[in-house]
Amino acid sequence: MNRDDNTPLRSNGRIRYGPDMRVLIVGGGIAGLTLCGLLQQRGFHPTLVERAPEFGDVGYVIVVWPSGSRILKGLGLYERLQEQGCAFTSYNISNYRGKVINSYTIDSVVEKYGPIISIYRPDLVNILRAAVSKDSIRMNTMVVSLADTDDGVETVFSDGSAGIYDLVIGCDGIRSKIRKDVFGEVPLRYSGMSGWGFWVNPDLCSHEGIIEYWGKGRFLGMWPTRGRLAVFTSVRRKSGVGDSVDTRIESIRRNFAEFGGVVPEILRGLDDPRDIYYDEYNDLRMDRWSRGRVVLVGDSVHAILPNAGAGVSMAMESAAVLAEELCRTDSVNLPHAFWQYESRRKSRVNKVQKQSRIMGKFIYTESSALSSIRDYVVRAYSSRQLFRYWDNMLKDPL
Ligand SMILES: Cc1cc2nc3c(=O)[nH]c(=O)nc-3n(C[C@H](O)[C@H](O)[C@H](O)COP(=O)(O)OP(=O)(O)OC[C@H]3O[C@@H](n4cnc5c(N)ncnc54)[C@H](O)[C@@H]3O)c2cc1C
Repeated sequence: MNRDDNTPLRSNGRIRYGPDMRVLIVGGGIAGLTLCGLLQQRGFHPTLVERAPEFGDVGYVIVVWPSGSRILKGLGLYERLQEQGCAFTSYNISNYRGKVINSYTIDSVVEKYGPIISIYRPDLVNILRAAVSKDSIRMNTMVVSLADTDDGVETVFSDGSAGIYDLVIGCDGIRSKIRKDVFGEVPLRYSGMSGWGFWVNPDLCSHEGIIEYWGKGRFLGMWPTRGRLAVFTSVRRKSGVGDSVDTRIESIRRNFAEFGGVVPEILRGLDDPRDIYYDEYNDLRMDRWSRGRVVLVGDSVHAILPNAGAGVSMAMESAAVLAEELCRTDSVNLPHAFWQYESRRKSRVNKVQKQSRIMGKFIYTESSALSSIRDYVVRAYSSRQLFRYWDNMLKDPL
C-alpha cells in the first residue's frame, strides 16, 4: 500500500463503474452502517464486516445535530429518530455548586435547522440497521491482512475466508486497525481531559435539556433521552494515568465531592464500577484520508472530542459525501474520488475539531480566577450569541 497520489490505479483490464465496484466496509458503527445504507440505496452491493459478535446494548447517549439528521432523512429513517430520540429544548450551565449561571433556549436553531436530538446509541445503531440488508453484514469478523494488487485489494478475514475488493473503507473507529495497517501508527491527540460515563435515575433531571456543571478543571454533564439519563463526568489529568475498576467510584466521588445541586445524590447512587465507562478524550487529524484503494471515514480519520457532541453527525456527513463521490467514479480513478471526498470534508471537520478544543479549554479552566471570569462570560453570553455559534457550525454545505 504505497501509492500516495491521485493518479489512476493500475488495473488488470476490467474496469468497474460506480455501483459495480466491489466494496468492503470495515466496522458497523455509525459511519459504517450509514455508508452501507447509502451505498445500497444507490445500487451498490457492499460487504460490511463488524468485529463484535452482535450489535448489543453498549453505549450511552449520543447527540444528532440537524446536519446528521439530514442524512437520516435521505435514508428514510428520520421519523424513527424522532420517535426514539428526544429533542432538546434548552441548554443549561451551572457552576459547581449547582447554581444555574445561564439557561439557553435553542428555539432559533430548531426553527432554522430542525431539532437537536439525543438518543441511546444502540437505538441509533438499530435504526441505521433498518437501511442495510441483513445479508451484507458479517458479524464477529475482522480483517487479518490487506494486499494491494492490480485486480483489487486481496483481503483475508479472521474466519479464514478471503475476498478481492476494488476498495476498502475503514469505519472501525478511533482505534482503527485499518488505519494502522495502511498508514502505520498515527498518534491520537490527547486533550488533557479524561472521563467517566454512567447511567443515573432519570428522575434526577426535571426537564428535556442538557444540564452541565462547570467546576475548576472538572465537568459534569447530564444528557437525557427517552426514559434514560446519562451522566458524563470529566477531569483534567495526564495521559496514561489510567483508571482501576477497584477505585473508580471512589475516584469519581473524590473529584466531585465539592459539587452541589443534584451531584451529591448522583454520587451516592453510584453502585457497580463495571457499569461505569472510562476513557481519555482524544481527537485525531490526518494529512491524508486515503491511500491507494483504502479510505477512512468517521472516527478512524477525524475523531472529535466528545464535549462537542459532534462525532456522530460528522461521521454521518462524511459517509454521505463519500457515498456521493463513489457514485461518480470507477475502480481505477478511486484516488481522485477519495481526494474529492477529503477536500469536501476537511475544512468542516477541522473547524469542528478546533471549536471543540477551544470549548474544552474554556470549560476545563483550572485556576479560581480564570474560572470566575469564565462563569462571568457565560452569564453575559446570550441565547442569540449561542445561536450564532450554532449557526456557524450548521450552515456549511456538505
Ligand atoms: C460500543 C460503542 C459505544 C459508544 N458509545 C458512545 C456514547 O455513549 N456516547 C458517545 O458520544 N459516543 C459513543 N461512541 C462513539 C461514537 O459512536 C463515535 O464517536 C461516532 O459515532 C463515530 O462513529 P464511527 O462509526 O466512526 O465509530 P464507532 O461508532 O466507534 O464505530 C466503529 C465500529 O467499528 C467496529 N470495529 C472496531 N474495530 C474493528 C475491527 N478491527 N474490525 C471490524 N470492526 C471493528 C466497532 O465494533 C464499531 O462497531 C461509542 C462507540 C462504540 C463502538
